[in-house]
This record gives sequence, C-alpha cells and structure tokens, in this order.
Amino acid sequence: MAEEVKSLNFIEHIIEEDLRGGFDKNNLRFRFPPEPNGYLHIGHASSICLNFGLGLDYQSPVNLRFDDTNPEKEEREFVDAIKRDVEWLGFEWDKECYASDYFQQLYDWAVILIKQGKAYVDSQDAATIAQQKGTPTTPGSDSPFRNRSVEENLELFEKMKNGEFQAGEHVLRAKIDMAHQNMLMRDPIMYRIMHKEHHRTGNDWCIYPMYDWTHGESDYIEQVSHSFCTLEFAMHRELYDWFLDQVYDTNKVRPKQREFARRNLSHTVVSKRKLLRLVQEGVVTGWDDPRMPTISGLRRRGYTPESIRNFADTIGIAKRENLIDVSLLEFCAREHLNKIAPRVMAVLDPIKVVITNYPEGQIEELEAENNPEEDPLTYRKVPFSREIYIEREDFREEANRKFFRLKLGGEVRLKNAYIIKAESVVKDEDGHITEVHCTYDPLSRSGSGTPESTRKVKGTLHWVSVAKAVPVEVRLYDRLFSVAEPEEDKEKDFMDFINPESLKVTTAYAEPSLKNAQPEERYQFQRLGYFCVDRDSTEEKIVFNKTVGLRDSWAKIENKS
Ligand code: ATP
Ligand code: MG
Repeated sequence: MAEEVKSLNFIEHIIEEDLRGGFDKNNLRFRFPPEPNGYLHIGHASSICLNFGLGLDYQSPVNLRFDDTNPEKEEREFVDAIKRDVEWLGFEWDKECYASDYFQQLYDWAVILIKQGKAYVDSQDAATIAQQKGTPTTPGSDSPFRNRSVEENLELFEKMKNGEFQAGEHVLRAKIDMAHQNMLMRDPIMYRIMHKEHHRTGNDWCIYPMYDWTHGESDYIEQVSHSFCTLEFAMHRELYDWFLDQVYDTNKVRPKQREFARRNLSHTVVSKRKLLRLVQEGVVTGWDDPRMPTISGLRRRGYTPESIRNFADTIGIAKRENLIDVSLLEFCAREHLNKIAPRVMAVLDPIKVVITNYPEGQIEELEAENNPEEDPLTYRKVPFSREIYIEREDFREEANRKFFRLKLGGEVRLKNAYIIKAESVVKDEDGHITEVHCTYDPLSRSGSGTPESTRKVKGTLHWVSVAKAVPVEVRLYDRLFSVAEPEEDKEKDFMDFINPESLKVTTAYAEPSLKNAQPEERYQFQRLGYFCVDRDSTEEKIVFNKTVGLRDSWAKIENKS
C-alpha cells in the first residue's frame, strides 16, 4: 500500500517541477476526456479523482471533454450518464467541451498540413493500408498515392468533405515515415469517410477525424497544461507531439502528456466494450445494474461518492498495472456506511417466535438507537409483540456451547428489547420447525433501568414484530464473475466466467420504520449488512439492494499477509 500512496506523487512531482521551472501556476489546466461510448466505470473514477483532485489542489480549472469522434458508437445517452456520474462523484467541471466543436479547426489544420506536404489522400482500402504498415521489426512500404500533388490532395480532401465519395474510398493520412520505429508514426490515418449522423454535429460532416488526430489537438485548443492518460497511450505521445509541432504557437501553452496505469478490479471487467456486451447480451439488466462496476451501478448498489473517492485515493496512481482486490472497494464502502447508515432491523429468512407469557394483542413501542456513531444520538420506536420473526439460522434445537444464539433451554437478548428463553418447538408433518415457543423476562427490557435490563447474556439477535413487519424485496448480490481475473485466460471468452448465481431475490420482513423508505436511502440491517433502497421500489413494495455485508474481509486479508 505504502508504495502506491507514495506514487500518487509522481504526477504531482511533474507539476511541481514544471512550476519550479517557471511554469505559471495560473496556466495550469486539467481535463477528464471520456469517449461517450459507454458508461463510466470504477477505473474512470481513478482518472476523474486524479484530474479533478489536481484541480482542487492547485485551484485550477478542469474541463470535462467528450472525445466524440466516432458517431458509430457514441450517443447522447452516454454523454448524459457521464455528466451525471461525474457530478454525483462530487466534482465540478469548468467547461463542458466536445471534440466535435473543433471539427472545423481540425479540418482547417488538416488543409494546412496538406499544403505543407505533410498529409495526403490515400485511395487504398483498409486491408491494403494495414498490410503495408509492416511489423515492429520490418519497415512498412509506401502507398502508391503517397506522392500525390498538393493540388490533387486538396481537391480530393474537399470532395471527401463534400460527400462525393463512399465510406472507404479514401482516407487522409499524415505523411511521416513508413519505416518509423514507432508503428503509430507510419503515416497514421487522420480522417475517414463515414456517412453517419453525429449526436451533436448532425449531418454537417461525413468525414470524421481519428481519435489520435483529435485528442492531443483538443487538449491544445483548450490550453490544457497537463494531459494525463493511461499507459496504453504512451506510444501515442510521439504522434501527438508530431501533430502538435505542426500547429503549435510558441506563445501558447503546450500540453504535456504523461501516463499512469489503468486500474483493474478483481472479479469484474473494466472496459466499456466488455461492459457493453454484458448489457447487450442480457447478463445484467442495464448499465446501472447493481452488479456492474460502473459508477451508476455502484451508486444503485448503495455505494457512496465518498467511499468511491476514498477508494481512488487509497489505491492512488501507479506507474505499473496491477489488480486491485474488489474487497478493498467493499472495505471503503463499509467504512463510510458505518458512519452514515441508520441501523434498522429486518429478517431475511424468518422463523416465527411466540413469546408465550407475553400478553396477546399487546404492542409495545420500544426505543431504538438509530446509529451509535452519531453525536448526539437519536432514537426511533420499534414495535414489540407476542409474535416476532428471527432469522432461521439464529435458532437451533441443540447446539454446542459455542453457539451463542438461541437454542432450546438457552437465553438471548432481543436487540433493544427483552431477554427470551427458548422452551419448545412446533414442527410440521415433515419435521420442519414452524415456531419456536419462548418465554421472556418482563424485567429485562433494554433501557428500563432495572438490574435485569443490563443482565449479560451471550447473544443478541435482531427481530421484527410479526404483526407490524413490512414485507420488502431484497436483492442479494454475489460477484459477477466467479474468478478474480476473467480476462486473464486469453484462450477463453471472459463471458465464460460469469457467475450464474450473482443475484438472489428474496422477501424479507422489515421493521415498520422502513415503510416510507425512499430510493437511494442507505441502511444497516443489523447483523446482516448494508442495504440501499432501489429505484424499482413502488408504493406497494420497497426493494432493497444489498450493498455489502458487515464482515470486513479486507482487514482479514491484510492481517494474513
Ligand atoms: P475503456 O477501455 O473502458 O473503453 P477508455 O480508455 O476507452 O476505457 P475513455 O472514455 O477514453 O475510456 O477514458 C477516459 C479517461 O479515463 C482516459 O483518460 C482514460 O485513460 C481513463 N481511464 C479509462 N479506463 C481507466 C482505468 N481502468 N483506470 C484508470 N483510468 C482509466
Ligand atoms: Mg478510449
């Protein structure tokens, strides 16, 4: 861990060094640049927290820029979802920008490059172009169109723009070096023809700039000072620099690109393309399915923005890729939820307890603490009655001395209530227990001030009154993938590792204070875990998603090592 926290500084070091070298602090500007072709996931959260975190540290503007160069895969829905997620995470952008706003500027620059003999129209098909690229160890070969005259290039490029050609007939390529060591420098494609409507520019354009041509120039147009991206773009840096050299005005800020490692999370996939498959193939109900590692999925699951930010801070920024155990994310959720989630009682798998010496028809409203972490403490009422539900697994007819829950002849305390003793059981024809008959100690009520009220018994159970219980739907989740690294086995498809039991739906019985629970409210069901009200809830039925259990498996992992 320590090494990772330290390495957060490597990005800050770069900035500090630039400031020491005379870079004007007022010219610092950052950006988060998503392609609107899917929903943001937990990996993006790292990048968001890095860029917006720097903005807060240095009091510098941070742009939200959509790199929307591919109308085939991009949609308005994704733009909206991305904005919603960044906001929900708690960040404010300075400008909302779109690479598509720079299409004209990029086109004009492309024309300049053509005039300077640095770009040309190639009229070969994609396969031929790819084939001429060569390999990392063998140089590529020149296109027969590489030496077209400037006039011919200008004319063709304009016709491309005017829609006079079909997709694939021509492309515009930068004229760099077909033998360059860096394959990306071997005359990369700058424009392709696509007769597709764009979510913002409509049908204004039928040629679209490639991501590589657009990305670095967009940073420059926005005067972003430090452009941070993931390691797979390290090789692209040379190309972005070449493109920048062609347009750079020395009076302006020249963006500096530096790379950090992608964040990968165990038991899931963090790639929009793969997440899209999960959605399209119906493995999940949508991008915000609570099993998804998307920001909106985590939100629906019950994660707080604080816990996600804390997770991103904890793992920090690294130079090399590694796999982060999902239990660390769960640890962060638990840590925050423990502070903020009101405690309530609900029973997931009920067995009925009848308290035979408690008056029939009587209901007592007992005082229950909402959250021991709160200051000052607040209380609510929970109804107690002769018949209650407890968890089936909290009762055994016979058990050894280590079983501190309820067994025949044994005593337990009911949380916020009385001590009860199990006397007998009622069974159906198949021998299944249907009721546990108990007696209670009327003097033992918690908080009543009697000596019995503080009498110590080994176990404390949660419970709900049968008469007052509110049936609710509870969705219990397990890992979406049954292995830690579903992408690791290159022979197999990651979809082969889907956990078929990642969702279980059950009816639980909750205390009546939850009757009006609203979507996104988070609770601790005592002894069970953290739960969040789902947006599928209706007047008739409240639906809860289980966020995480109470047990801290991360701490256990840490202790072991
Ligand atoms: P994906 O592979 O999921 O499609 P992407 O890199 O294509 O991701 P972009 O929308 O281009 O997604 O990403 C926006 C920013 O977030 C980029 O700067 C990218 O480097 C960064 N980013 C994407 N995935 C991760 C990740 N797993 N960890 C950290 N940063 C990431
Ligand atoms: Mg990308």
